[in-house]
Amino acid sequence: MSTQSNLPNISTSSNTSVTEQAAARATIDVASEMQPEKTVVNKLPPKPDYPRYRVRPEQPIVLAALDPNECEDYGKKKHVEEELERQRKRIQNLQERLYAEHQRSLLIVLQAMDTGGKDGTIKHVFGGLNPQGCQVWSFKKPSDDEANHDFLWRYHQRAPQRGMISIFNRSHYEDVLVVRVKELVAKEVWQERYHLINEFEHMLTLNNIRVIKFFLHISKDEQKRRLESRLEDPSKHWKFSSNDIKERKYWDDYQTAFEDAINNCSTAYAPWYVVPANKKWYRNLVVARTIADTLESMNPQYPPAEVGLENIIIE
Ligand code: AMP
Ligand code: MG
Repeated sequence: MSTQSNLPNISTSSNTSVTEQAAARATIDVASEMQPEKTVVNKLPPKPDYPRYRVRPEQPIVLAALDPNECEDYGKKKHVEEELERQRKRIQNLQERLYAEHQRSLLIVLQAMDTGGKDGTIKHVFGGLNPQGCQVWSFKKPSDDEANHDFLWRYHQRAPQRGMISIFNRSHYEDVLVVRVKELVAKEVWQERYHLINEFEHMLTLNNIRVIKFFLHISKDEQKRRLESRLEDPSKHWKFSSNDIKERKYWDDYQTAFEDAINNCSTAYAPWYVVPANKKWYRNLVVARTIADTLESMNPQYPPAEVGLENIIIE
């Protein structure tokens, strides 16, 4: 479990710039969810250690060393159903407060290999949210108009408004993933983008948009099983894309690209979480719990009521 010493070392001396001080404030706030169980959860779940999936800036990960089958002591789906429902309820309550507060917002980035479960996560984790306070954006190959702008343009336009939760199903990270693997731009161009992405997310954070990013980590074997089941089951045919078979040939290149994106862009203010995702039910639980903890650490407040409500009589 994290201790105080794991929190980022933040200098607040008087000669730091205004920008650095603002960044430090945002970072302290974000860092509080490194140990959320201590402050926000009354009844501890079996192993309350979800922040371990958070990638720390000073500890780069190696994807091949992370087990996509991990599921703690939970044996099967039915063991987590109650706990998942509890986390969904937490998210619903906190979303209502975030919406009412109307000051800050949350941006959730979902990335994965094909069949990794982005759509399933959206369905199962966010199903109960108030649609009025939530938007899902799915990013495909850029349109001509989008391609005529800087690479961040289309993402920035869809950053959440105050009070909202936005989910990016694929994101600005595609511009260092597919774009890198398929050599859609020169190396000098995509290499520069890690830094630009960090700056972009920093700017969002300083503008009261909390940014968290999930990589749903599946194995190559699991992808094979999922593709096969899309072929076998007529009700899943619509999900099958022969492009996924082509992309599968680049599995190793994608893993390297993900690893670099995660290691270069997991910052103290906008962390990456690598979620074991071979077991869909465990993936849902980890994502739900992490979002609930993040919202809880933001601690959104209902705005003050009008003065004198107690004197109003409805006739
Ligand atoms: P899907 O999410 O399965 O509908 O597929 C969307 C496709 O759009 C994927 O093949 C992505 O690789 C592709 N895509 C998303 N963003 C970009 C981008 N910035 N540049 C090129 N291709 C992209
Ligand atoms: Mg697809």
